[in-house]
Order: sequence, then structure tokens, then C-alpha cells
Amino acid sequence: MTPIVLVTGGSRGIGAATSKYLAKQNYAVCVNYISNKAQADKVVSEIEKDGGKAIAVQADVSKEEEVVRLFNTIDSTLGQITHLVNNAGILLPQIRVSEMTAERINKVLTTNVTSYFLCCREAIKRMENGGSIVNVSSAASRLGAAGEYVDYASSKGAIDTLTTGLSLEVASQNIRVNCVRPGFIYTDMHADGGEANRVERVKSLIPLQRGGKTQEVAAAIAFLLSNEASFITGTFVDIAGGK
Ligand code: NAP
Repeated sequence: MTPIVLVTGGSRGIGAATSKYLAKQNYAVCVNYISNKAQADKVVSEIEKDGGKAIAVQADVSKEEEVVRLFNTIDSTLGQITHLVNNAGILLPQIRVSEMTAERINKVLTTNVTSYFLCCREAIKRMENGGSIVNVSSAASRLGAAGEYVDYASSKGAIDTLTTGLSLEVASQNIRVNCVRPGFIYTDMHADGGEANRVERVKSLIPLQRGGKTQEVAAAIAFLLSNEASFITGTFVDIAGGK
């Protein structure tokens, strides 16, 4: 049976690399995106060119009705989902907590946390024969991102706790829930956070002396998602060059 995976935020960065990596491992992939249709279509056509199966589905995963539509679309096109990668996330420009508005904090929390809960909920409903979920958190959940994005770091702290709690809640249903915590990875996200060259600036502070590649995160996600990790649940893999 072909495994069916949803990668939220699969159009760019870590999500795009993960979508392509999983397609090579014979998953049928739903590449979700919010606005960048061209990039999502590009990921799908690269997968198809390599002989894989994928669809692109627009949905804002922070909105309940859009998540329900996303999963219904997967049901009617690819079939019943067996795997989920919760990856979509945002980073807003660097500011201190003393300057944060409720509007900003709520945007970060609904996009980075509510979406993961909603997608877990819809996936679990469909994983009657077991399944596997990987949540993409961040090294920021351990480090706190002081002076830059404490809201973002806190949202990732919530994802760590979601991983622990949900893994225990659904273990008896043979659904595994694990988490990766990337460090500084070369993607567009840093430009959205107000500093496109952020990885270059901090790389000498990373023990391995470099930023990470999206494929390095994708490989860890694919391992945790797979049957190779069949006795692993509630676990965190730090992909942060030693920091
Ligand atoms: P990215 O390059 O900025 O890509 C973000 C992706 O999320 C895009 O596909 C975007 O879609 C999608 N997205 C954003 N909001 C969405 C929403 N509401 N609904 C659906 N899709 C949405 O980000 P990235 O660096 O690959 O990050 C991916 C994940 O890794 C995030 O959870 C991030 O927090 C985490 N992470 C990244 C780093 C890093 O250094 N890059 C480090 C630690 C953790 P569009 O293309 O349509 O805009």
C-alpha cells in the first residue's frame, strides 16, 4: 500500500525538501501552501518528473475550516492519509517582548501552534490502522530567541509539549508522534524575520561552524516518519550543528 503524507508548508524551504525526499521513498505527497502556488506547483512537477505522485493544495492551516477542506481534498484525491509532517511556520521581524502586540503574538501562535493541533486532529481521525506524525519545532524552543523572537520560540516550546502529550495519548492506537528541532537552516524564513543573512552572521557560533541544509532536516524527518523508527515515539531530534 502506498503511504500517503501531508507536508504542511511544502512549497518552500524545509517542507519542499521533505516533500521531494519522501516522494523518492514512494510516498504520495500532498504539498500544502498558503499563497505561493508557483513554488508548490514546481515541487509537484519535480516529483512527477522523477516518477513520483504529488498534489498541491492551497490552505491556510491556521484556520479550522481550511484544514478540514485540506484533509477532505486529500481523502478524495490521494486517499486516506497515513503520515503527517507538521511544518508550516512563520517568523516575524525581530523585536523585544516589550514591543509585541497581541495581534502579532496571536498570528505567530495560530500559525505555528493551532495549525499543528488541527492537522494532528484530522490526521488521527483517519489513522485507524496506525500512523506516524513528525512535528517541526526549532532549537529556539530550547534557546528562547531573546531580543529577537521570543513569541516564535514560545510557539515552538508549545510544539515540544504537544509532541510529548500527544505521543502518549495515541501510542496505544499505534500512532507515533516525534519531533525535529532544526537550528539555523538556509531558507527564506530568515528574510521574513528581518535578516536574510542571519545564518551567515551566526554560523561561527555553531559548533559545526556552518548553517544546515534543508535536505539534512528532510532526512531526519523521513527517518522518524518511517518504519525504521517503529519503536520511537515522543522523541526529539536536534538538527542544529551541536548547539
Ligand atoms: P520557509 O522557507 O519560510 O517556508 C514556510 C512554508 O510555510 C512555506 O511553504 C509557506 O507557504 C508555508 N506557510 C506559512 N504559513 C502558512 C499557513 N498559515 N498555512 C499553510 N502554509 C503556510 O520556512 P522554513 O525555514 O522551511 O521553515 C519550515 C519549518 O521549520 C517552520 O516550522 C520553521 O519554524 C521551522 N524551522 C526553520 C528553521 C530555519 O532556520 N529555517 C529553524 C528551525 C525551525 P507559501 O510558500 O505559500 O508562503
